[in-house]
Amino acid sequence: MNLVDFHCHLDLYDDPASVLRACAGIGARLLAVTTLPNSATRVASLARASDAIVHVGIGLHPEHVHLHERSIDELLTGVSEWAFVGEIGLDGSADYKDHQEVQRRAFRGVLSECERRGGRILSIHSRRAARAVVDDLACHPAAGIPVLHWFSGTQSELADSVLAGCWFSVGLPMMRSAAGRARILAMPRNRVVTETDGPLATIGRAQQHPAELPATIRALANIWQLPDDETREMVWRNYCALLEAGGIQNR
Ligand code: MN
Repeated sequence: MNLVDFHCHLDLYDDPASVLRACAGIGARLLAVTTLPNSATRVASLARASDAIVHVGIGLHPEHVHLHERSIDELLTGVSEWAFVGEIGLDGSADYKDHQEVQRRAFRGVLSECERRGGRILSIHSRRAARAVVDDLACHPAAGIPVLHWFSGTQSELADSVLAGCWFSVGLPMMRSAAGRARILAMPRNRVVTETDGPLATIGRAQQHPAELPATIRALANIWQLPDDETREMVWRNYCALLEAGGIQNR
């Protein structure tokens, strides 16, 4: 099966090797994002040691950036070496809104660096900050292809992000609420791929895992009112188109 997990924190699972075996077993392609830039090399070597097909993003999570300001330079330097950048973005929720300035400096800095390097595929966090994310993206139109992960903004922010060229990665947790389903319905179907955001995303106590991808496709099929196999094929074609647009060789 051709399955896609376009936002997964592989290095945060207790046993990444077993996650990779599961991915290889079900034919799931992974974008392994990182929350700190110095994790990317380790994730890449985990991936090389497995049969799974994994792309690695160099990232600095907006929830961490104020604690790791010195990692901003490392992120900017790393952009030259990695085809994917993530997890990056802004978080305006109560716990982090005092750190807007440093978040914004990091985000704008990495977008500028991506522009200088000819563009990257970006996996972007935008919780309670969708407006600011879209504004910053609009100022950096050559940063590459932005993929907004677990988008939770308003319908008007969503419309503006579509106009700004954003893609979307969607997972089971966001499909459980009516608002989340309404957002997915408003996204252009040819710019949607699936994600787990595991193991950070949970349903109940269960960490999301690439093994949930068939269930994710079923839930998305239900929203799109398409058969499961057509939904899986659509997500797969989108994934291939996304890589092609980003100049990434698809294996
Ligand atoms: Mn994440």
